[in-house]
Amino acid sequence: MRQHKHNTWLPCCKEATLLVEKKLQQQSLPLLQRIGLRLHLLYCIYCRRYAKQSQTIDKHLGEFVTQTDILPDESLKLQWEMMIAEKMKK
Ligand SMILES: [Zn+2]
Repeated sequence: MRQHKHNTWLPCCKEATLLVEKKLQQQSLPLLQRIGLRLHLLYCIYCRRYAKQSQTIDKHLGEFVTQTDILPDESLKLQWEMMIAEKMKK
């Protein structure tokens, strides 16, 4: 996978996944970061997939939490992250 040089507003894959996480946690992002993330997701299929999967997982975890009233298990998300990270190496 081609590594682009880091610049201030376009996130790399690692930053993009962090931004996805923040968005899922309902954290507000600065406008430039939101635009950067959006652009990144346009050209990066891995992060796009990651964002989609994270959303799905969070939705399921959310349902799980409301049903059982316990804290979500982070291991499932970590598994996905490791899988995506593995894919990005190629
Ligand atoms: Zn990416």
